[in-house]
Amino acid sequence: MKLAKSIEEIRADFPILSMKVHGLPLIYLDNGATTQKPEQVIQLMDQLYRSANANVHRGVHFLSDIVSDRYESARETVRAFINARRKEEIIFTAGATASINAVAFSFGEKYVREGDEIIVSEMEHHANIVPWQMLCGRKKAVLKVIPFTDEGLLDLEAYRSLITERTRIVAVTHASNVLGTINPVKEIVAEAHRNGIPVLVDGAQSIQHGVVDVTDIDCDFFVFSGHKVYGPNGIGVLYGREKLLNELPPYQGGGDMVATVSFRQTTYNDLPFKFEAGTTNFTGAIGLAAALDYLTALGREAVEEREQALLASATAGLSSVSGIRIYGTAPRKVSVVSFLPGDIHQYDAGMILDKMGIAVRTGTHCAQPVMERFDISGTIRASIAFYNTEEEIDALIDGVRKVTEMFG
Ligand code: PLP
Repeated sequence: MKLAKSIEEIRADFPILSMKVHGLPLIYLDNGATTQKPEQVIQLMDQLYRSANANVHRGVHFLSDIVSDRYESARETVRAFINARRKEEIIFTAGATASINAVAFSFGEKYVREGDEIIVSEMEHHANIVPWQMLCGRKKAVLKVIPFTDEGLLDLEAYRSLITERTRIVAVTHASNVLGTINPVKEIVAEAHRNGIPVLVDGAQSIQHGVVDVTDIDCDFFVFSGHKVYGPNGIGVLYGREKLLNELPPYQGGGDMVATVSFRQTTYNDLPFKFEAGTTNFTGAIGLAAALDYLTALGREAVEEREQALLASATAGLSSVSGIRIYGTAPRKVSVVSFLPGDIHQYDAGMILDKMGIAVRTGTHCAQPVMERFDISGTIRASIAFYNTEEEIDALIDGVRKVTEMFG
């Protein structure tokens, strides 16, 4: 599978990649935290504010019509990108965290009672733990946790044994932001559905790496953030199965989410607007659609193939450095490598790498239970995008080798 552009052309699309830090070329390997934006997105955002700005769904005038059309066409772009059945199943939110909180609140209000159970996994980002803990606190429900193995694989037998007649929802990540593991979400969903339980899949770390098909996964909710998939910040998506979304109460009230309002009674709008109270981030949604179009034009399978090749080089190269431990060695991973160089503290290593122009993430990556599982205080994480190069991966490996030599 070939990318539609050469690597030089791709890198030219992302202006920040030609920047220098500390006088050295930037090597950006923190794509799991946020991705860089192509000109196609940056220019569009600029153009929207210059020549297509008006409030969405609010007027009959020329500009409002243009924005409303583009916003709804962005919804269709997202629908097609994740292969949802209907455009009404796509809700724009502020990001993955906002989407999970929306489901935890709305679904929790309707379906969770005292003594009920919610299942998450031990490898979740805090965004897919804390909203459920808060719900459990409000409702006196119980949070149950699927453990993972030393390799970083979810223990599916343990998962099956956690399901009871009190389980109300399962919430799992598609791909771990620390271990890189791609979880068998289809299997997880099928098992939950056999027991009549809906599943939320956190796609914050999967959407940018390959083809995601919510109809094939058969999940009930799927969430992701725009900024992690080459789009703007402050925009995200909540996909929900139409039947479930129709049953759930809105979690925020305000303009646009209502059909009629009086002091006697208020009625709610249809999907998706019922869940989009107030002025949404319409420019963000249109920018997100441009980012998704960019990936589609590049070839999503080719993106995945390239990232897998870079991941293989990074894993092999880092493993060859003496004293390195890699966390997350599952056979199916997204392009994320977490590691520790001997006893060197991750912050020290991260700061030295930064002086070499290499941007990696250090710390707990908002996944403290993963650190607890391995009894460590954090890791260094290199997260790779299709615009990274083999030379950059070599520089990372060299840099890490130098760090270990410096510390003896
Ligand atoms: N879920 C996972 C797996 C993540 O990696 C992240 C962010 O790193 C989130 C959720 C939260 O995303 P955001 O902060 O964009 O809402």
